[in-house]
Amino acid sequence: MLTVSMMLLLEKLFQLSYDANSAMLLVENVFQLTLMLTVSMMLLVENVFQLTLMLTVSLMLLAVKLFPLTCEFLEGEKTFYFRAQKFYEDVPATEEGMMGDFIEVSHADLEGSRKFLSKFMNYLPRRSWIMTWLWIQGPGNAGSSFALDCGSGIGRVSRSVLLPVFQKVDLVDMVERFLLTAHQDFLDQDQVDRVETLFCYNLQDFIPTRDKYDVVWIQWVACHLTDKDLMNFLRRCKKSLRPDGVIILKDNMARQGAKLDVSDSSVSRHLDIMRVIIAAAGLQILAVEHQDGFPDIIMPVWMIAMR
Ligand code: SAH
Repeated sequence: MLTVSMMLLLEKLFQLSYDANSAMLLVENVFQLTLMLTVSMMLLVENVFQLTLMLTVSLMLLAVKLFPLTCEFLEGEKTFYFRAQKFYEDVPATEEGMMGDFIEVSHADLEGSRKFLSKFMNYLPRRSWIMTWLWIQGPGNAGSSFALDCGSGIGRVSRSVLLPVFQKVDLVDMVERFLLTAHQDFLDQDQVDRVETLFCYNLQDFIPTRDKYDVVWIQWVACHLTDKDLMNFLRRCKKSLRPDGVIILKDNMARQGAKLDVSDSSVSRHLDIMRVIIAAAGLQILAVEHQDGFPDIIMPVWMIAMR
């Protein structure tokens, strides 16, 4: 294109000097000036065209480059979950297995959980007209019909915190062996009868039924989800709550920033990071409490209630 426009212009220049022989010199100069300007303009336009073309090509190349980057990210995510699965294959289906190296704190943990939960429960008969008329309520508002134990393992939390309070409980965990132990060994017969469903699912894929649960309990498993999956899972949990229901998340929280443990693929987040994820999930925090009674060498454990 550049060559064609140059040739056209040279031809014009030639005609111009030919005409100028019979005209004024000044007019010729003005014509030449105009032509020079036109050439410059045309070259500029061509440059803009070339620039646009170059930009488009670069953008296309960038898009091609971005694709493998996205794949790398997904690969990383897959590795994160795969490593956790491998880790739990070797974990015994016992209370010790669920507590890692810290079985001695199980009692304090369960006691702390029971106390925290009781703040959000209304143990009085909900539909009783006289209670409604007298405006009598329990300390909290959540009902005691149904709870969901997320990342339940063998049902340590269900046995000592949830089943003593709720009429029915569902358990969800990615390891079938743990769920079977809950059903066959760990829970009492009366408790097994009140477990409605054992869901063998990854939480990142699990969609709890809408409007079903008074309490959704998420203990020591949020650390096994990526930020994005945790946020989406919390969103789904919110939809699964009955009126006045609450989600309770209990986990190790880093003293600073976020800390990844590659041995079991868990990420401990600072409380503030957790707050950001919770807000992004559209949930409101009702209470935050530190779990007391754990030795200092253990990472701080916090309980967060939200809805
Ligand atoms: N909440 C129980 C068990 C904690 S151990 C308790 O406090 O005793 C962590 C549990 O989370 C294990 O049972 C493990 O199988 C489960 N888990 C880990 N990653 C998971 C995931 N992505 N989806 C579902 N369960 C998971």
